[in-house]
Amino acid sequence: MTDPGSDAHAPLAATSAARLEAVRRQIADACRLAGRDPAQVCLVAVSKTFPAGDIAPVLAAGQRVFGENRVQEARAKWPQLRADHPDVRVHLIGPLQSNKAREAVETFDAIHTVDRPKIAAALAEEMARLGRRPQLFVQVNTGAEPQKAGVLPEAADAFLARCRDDFALEISGLMCIPPVDAVAAPHFALLAEIAARNGLAGLSMGMSADFEAAILQGATHVRIGSAIFGHRPSPA
Ligand SMILES: *Cc1c(COP(=O)(O)O)cnc(C)c1O
Repeated sequence: MTDPGSDAHAPLAATSAARLEAVRRQIADACRLAGRDPAQVCLVAVSKTFPAGDIAPVLAAGQRVFGENRVQEARAKWPQLRADHPDVRVHLIGPLQSNKAREAVETFDAIHTVDRPKIAAALAEEMARLGRRPQLFVQVNTGAEPQKAGVLPEAADAFLARCRDDFALEISGLMCIPPVDAVAAPHFALLAEIAARNGLAGLSMGMSADFEAAILQGATHVRIGSAIFGHRPSPA
Protein backbone atom coordinates (compact mmCIF):
# COMPACT_ATOMS: atom_id res chain seq x y z
CA MET A 1 0.00 0.00 0.00
CA THR A 2 2.86 2.37 0.74
CA ASP A 3 4.93 1.36 -2.27
CA PRO A 4 5.97 3.90 -4.84
CA GLY A 5 4.55 3.05 -8.22
CA SER A 6 0.93 3.05 -7.09
CA ASP A 7 -1.45 4.92 -9.32
CA ALA A 8 -2.47 7.28 -6.50
CA HIS A 9 -1.25 10.23 -8.56
CA ALA A 10 -3.26 9.25 -11.63
CA PRO A 11 -6.66 10.85 -12.12
CA LEU A 12 -9.39 8.52 -10.92
CA ALA A 13 -11.25 7.28 -13.97
CA ALA A 14 -15.02 7.30 -13.85
CA THR A 15 -15.71 3.79 -15.10
CA SER A 16 -14.23 0.36 -14.60
CA ALA A 17 -13.58 0.13 -18.35
CA ALA A 18 -11.53 3.35 -18.23
CA ARG A 19 -9.67 2.15 -15.12
CA LEU A 20 -8.93 -1.15 -16.88
CA GLU A 21 -7.51 0.79 -19.82
CA ALA A 22 -5.32 2.82 -17.44
CA VAL A 23 -4.05 -0.35 -15.74
CA ARG A 24 -3.22 -1.88 -19.12
CA ARG A 25 -1.22 1.24 -20.00
CA GLN A 26 0.63 1.10 -16.67
CA ILE A 27 1.44 -2.58 -17.25
CA ALA A 28 2.77 -1.76 -20.73
CA ASP A 29 4.86 1.11 -19.33
CA ALA A 30 6.31 -1.09 -16.57
CA CYS A 31 7.14 -3.77 -19.15
CA ARG A 32 8.89 -1.20 -21.33
CA LEU A 33 10.91 -0.06 -18.32
CA ALA A 34 11.80 -3.67 -17.50
CA GLY A 35 12.63 -4.54 -21.11
CA ARG A 36 9.88 -7.16 -21.08
CA ASP A 37 7.19 -8.10 -23.56
CA PRO A 38 3.73 -7.15 -22.17
CA ALA A 39 2.46 -10.46 -23.55
CA GLN A 40 4.48 -12.13 -20.75
CA VAL A 41 2.33 -10.48 -18.09
CA CYS A 42 -1.15 -11.85 -17.52
CA LEU A 43 -3.56 -9.37 -15.95
CA VAL A 44 -5.83 -11.19 -13.49
CA ALA A 45 -8.73 -8.82 -12.80
CA VAL A 46 -9.76 -9.56 -9.21
CA SER A 47 -13.56 -9.45 -9.17
CA LYS A 48 -14.10 -10.85 -5.64
CA THR A 49 -17.09 -9.28 -3.83
CA PHE A 50 -18.30 -7.60 -7.05
CA PRO A 51 -21.57 -8.85 -8.55
CA ALA A 52 -21.97 -9.94 -12.16
CA GLY A 53 -23.39 -6.54 -13.06
CA ASP A 54 -20.08 -4.91 -12.13
CA ILE A 55 -18.06 -7.52 -14.03
CA ALA A 56 -20.00 -7.17 -17.30
CA PRO A 57 -18.44 -3.83 -18.37
CA VAL A 58 -14.95 -5.21 -17.75
CA LEU A 59 -15.78 -8.25 -19.89
CA ALA A 60 -17.19 -5.92 -22.53
CA ALA A 61 -13.87 -4.04 -22.50
CA GLY A 62 -12.16 -7.29 -23.49
CA GLN A 63 -10.78 -8.54 -20.16
CA ARG A 64 -10.90 -12.34 -20.02
CA VAL A 65 -8.90 -13.46 -16.96
CA PHE A 66 -10.47 -12.93 -13.54
CA GLY A 67 -9.56 -13.75 -9.95
CA GLU A 68 -11.88 -14.85 -7.16
CA ASN A 69 -10.95 -15.69 -3.58
CA ARG A 70 -13.90 -17.88 -2.57
CA VAL A 71 -14.96 -21.13 -4.21
CA GLN A 72 -18.67 -20.72 -3.46
CA GLU A 73 -18.82 -17.12 -4.64
CA ALA A 74 -17.13 -18.05 -7.92
CA ARG A 75 -19.50 -20.98 -8.46
CA ALA A 76 -22.47 -18.69 -7.95
CA LYS A 77 -21.27 -15.86 -10.19
CA TRP A 78 -19.34 -17.32 -13.09
CA PRO A 79 -21.44 -20.00 -14.84
CA GLN A 80 -23.73 -17.40 -16.44
CA LEU A 81 -20.88 -15.02 -17.33
CA ARG A 82 -18.92 -17.94 -18.80
CA ALA A 83 -21.91 -19.02 -20.88
CA ASP A 84 -21.85 -15.57 -22.51
CA HIS A 85 -18.03 -15.52 -22.80
CA PRO A 86 -16.71 -19.08 -23.23
CA ASP A 87 -13.09 -17.86 -23.43
CA VAL A 88 -13.16 -16.48 -19.88
CA ARG A 89 -10.61 -17.89 -17.41
CA VAL A 90 -11.23 -17.76 -13.66
CA HIS A 91 -8.36 -18.08 -11.18
CA LEU A 92 -8.65 -18.99 -7.50
CA ILE A 93 -6.46 -16.57 -5.53
CA GLY A 94 -7.86 -17.23 -2.04
CA PRO A 95 -7.18 -20.01 0.45
CA LEU A 96 -8.41 -23.50 -0.37
CA GLN A 97 -9.70 -26.15 2.05
CA SER A 98 -9.10 -29.73 1.01
CA ASN A 99 -12.83 -30.53 1.25
CA LYS A 100 -13.37 -27.94 -1.53
CA ALA A 101 -10.72 -29.42 -3.81
CA ARG A 102 -13.22 -31.09 -6.13
CA GLU A 103 -15.26 -27.92 -6.59
CA ALA A 104 -12.07 -25.92 -7.08
CA VAL A 105 -10.81 -28.24 -9.82
CA GLU A 106 -14.24 -28.12 -11.50
CA THR A 107 -14.51 -24.35 -11.28
CA PHE A 108 -11.09 -22.79 -11.81
CA ASP A 109 -8.58 -22.60 -14.65
CA ALA A 110 -5.76 -21.78 -12.25
CA ILE A 111 -5.23 -22.16 -8.49
CA HIS A 112 -2.67 -19.80 -6.95
CA THR A 113 -2.82 -21.03 -3.37
CA VAL A 114 -1.40 -24.56 -3.14
CA ASP A 115 0.45 -24.50 0.18
CA ARG A 116 0.34 -27.85 1.99
CA PRO A 117 0.56 -31.57 1.28
CA LYS A 118 -3.10 -32.20 2.13
CA ILE A 119 -4.20 -29.71 -0.54
CA ALA A 120 -1.67 -31.03 -3.05
CA ALA A 121 -2.92 -34.60 -2.49
CA ALA A 122 -6.57 -33.58 -2.76
CA LEU A 123 -5.96 -31.60 -5.96
CA ALA A 124 -3.99 -34.47 -7.52
CA GLU A 125 -6.83 -36.89 -6.74
CA GLU A 126 -9.56 -34.61 -8.12
CA MET A 127 -7.57 -33.68 -11.22
CA ALA A 128 -7.16 -37.36 -12.02
CA ARG A 129 -10.83 -38.06 -11.32
CA LEU A 130 -12.17 -35.10 -13.31
CA GLY A 131 -9.59 -35.07 -16.09
CA ARG A 132 -9.13 -31.34 -15.64
CA ARG A 133 -5.74 -29.78 -15.04
CA PRO A 134 -5.91 -26.20 -13.77
CA GLN A 135 -2.62 -24.36 -13.73
CA LEU A 136 -1.12 -24.54 -10.22
CA PHE A 137 0.93 -22.05 -8.21
CA VAL A 138 2.46 -22.64 -4.81
CA GLN A 139 1.84 -19.79 -2.36
CA VAL A 140 4.90 -18.72 -0.38
CA ASN A 141 4.51 -16.77 2.88
CA THR A 142 7.47 -14.52 2.10
CA GLY A 143 6.94 -12.41 5.21
CA ALA A 144 6.61 -15.49 7.48
CA GLU A 145 3.42 -13.95 8.89
CA PRO A 146 1.75 -16.33 11.36
CA GLN A 147 -1.80 -15.50 10.20
CA LYS A 148 -1.02 -15.83 6.50
CA ALA A 149 -1.29 -18.88 4.26
CA GLY A 150 1.62 -20.16 2.22
CA VAL A 151 4.69 -22.29 2.77
CA LEU A 152 7.59 -20.63 4.54
CA PRO A 153 10.41 -19.58 2.20
CA GLU A 154 12.82 -22.10 3.72
CA ALA A 155 10.29 -24.91 3.23
CA ALA A 156 9.43 -24.07 -0.37
CA ASP A 157 12.04 -26.24 -2.12
CA ALA A 158 11.04 -29.35 -0.18
CA PHE A 159 7.32 -28.72 -0.72
CA LEU A 160 7.83 -28.24 -4.46
CA ALA A 161 9.77 -31.51 -4.57
CA ARG A 162 6.89 -33.28 -2.79
CA CYS A 163 4.35 -31.82 -5.23
CA ARG A 164 6.34 -33.29 -8.11
CA ASP A 165 7.53 -36.57 -6.57
CA ASP A 166 4.70 -37.61 -4.25
CA PHE A 167 1.69 -36.14 -6.06
CA ALA A 168 2.91 -35.86 -9.69
CA LEU A 169 1.62 -32.31 -9.79
CA GLU A 170 2.93 -29.94 -12.41
CA ILE A 171 3.52 -26.61 -10.69
CA SER A 172 3.60 -23.56 -12.97
CA GLY A 173 4.98 -21.03 -10.54
CA LEU A 174 4.89 -19.31 -7.18
CA MET A 175 2.58 -16.75 -5.63
CA CYS A 176 3.02 -14.32 -2.74
CA ILE A 177 1.13 -11.60 -0.88
CA PRO A 178 3.70 -9.35 0.83
CA PRO A 179 2.86 -8.02 4.31
CA VAL A 180 0.54 -5.00 3.94
CA ASP A 181 2.86 -2.51 5.61
CA ALA A 182 6.11 -3.72 4.04
CA VAL A 183 7.99 -2.50 1.01
CA ALA A 184 6.96 -5.16 -1.48
CA ALA A 185 10.01 -5.33 -3.76
CA PRO A 186 12.20 -7.52 -1.48
CA HIS A 187 9.31 -10.01 -1.19
CA PHE A 188 8.98 -10.13 -4.97
CA ALA A 189 12.74 -10.60 -5.29
CA LEU A 190 12.68 -13.48 -2.78
CA LEU A 191 9.81 -15.17 -4.65
CA ALA A 192 11.67 -14.78 -7.95
CA GLU A 193 14.79 -16.30 -6.41
CA ILE A 194 12.93 -19.36 -5.08
CA ALA A 195 11.22 -19.80 -8.47
CA ALA A 196 14.50 -19.51 -10.38
CA ARG A 197 16.30 -22.13 -8.30
CA ASN A 198 13.35 -24.51 -8.76
CA GLY A 199 13.11 -23.95 -12.51
CA LEU A 200 9.66 -22.36 -12.32
CA ALA A 201 8.64 -19.74 -14.87
CA GLY A 202 5.44 -18.42 -13.27
CA LEU A 203 5.40 -15.58 -10.74
CA SER A 204 1.99 -14.50 -9.42
CA MET A 205 2.79 -11.28 -7.60
CA GLY A 206 1.72 -7.65 -7.57
CA MET A 207 -1.65 -6.11 -6.65
CA SER A 208 -3.18 -2.65 -7.26
CA ALA A 209 -0.64 -0.85 -5.09
CA ASP A 210 2.52 -2.55 -6.27
CA PHE A 211 2.09 -4.30 -9.62
CA GLU A 212 4.64 -2.12 -11.38
CA ALA A 213 7.33 -3.11 -8.87
CA ALA A 214 6.29 -6.75 -9.34
CA ILE A 215 6.63 -6.49 -13.11
CA LEU A 216 10.13 -5.08 -12.70
CA GLN A 217 10.94 -8.20 -10.63
CA GLY A 218 9.55 -10.58 -13.25
CA ALA A 219 5.84 -11.04 -12.42
CA THR A 220 4.02 -13.16 -14.99
CA HIS A 221 0.60 -12.76 -13.31
CA VAL A 222 -0.50 -9.53 -11.61
CA ARG A 223 -3.68 -9.73 -9.51
CA ILE A 224 -5.42 -6.37 -9.68
CA GLY A 225 -8.77 -5.65 -8.04
CA SER A 226 -9.50 -2.18 -6.70
CA ALA A 227 -7.54 -0.32 -9.39
CA ILE A 228 -10.05 -1.75 -11.89
CA PHE A 229 -13.28 -2.33 -9.98
CA GLY A 230 -12.97 0.43 -7.40
CA HIS A 231 -12.97 -0.01 -3.66
CA ARG A 232 -14.53 -3.15 -2.28
CA PRO A 233 -17.47 -2.54 0.05
CA SER A 234 -15.96 -4.81 2.72
CA PRO A 235 -12.54 -6.36 3.17
CA ALA A 236 -12.32 -9.80 1.58
C1 LIG B 1 -8.00 -9.07 -3.13
C2 LIG B 1 -6.74 -9.67 -3.63
C3 LIG B 1 -6.00 -9.06 -4.67
C4 LIG B 1 -6.38 -7.73 -5.28
O1 LIG B 1 -6.12 -6.69 -4.39
P1 LIG B 1 -6.22 -5.15 -4.84
O2 LIG B 1 -5.41 -4.43 -3.85
O3 LIG B 1 -7.66 -4.80 -4.81
O4 LIG B 1 -5.66 -5.07 -6.22
C5 LIG B 1 -4.87 -9.71 -5.11
N1 LIG B 1 -4.47 -10.89 -4.60
C6 LIG B 1 -5.14 -11.52 -3.62
C7 LIG B 1 -4.66 -12.82 -3.10
C8 LIG B 1 -6.30 -10.93 -3.10
O5 LIG B 1 -6.97 -11.56 -2.13
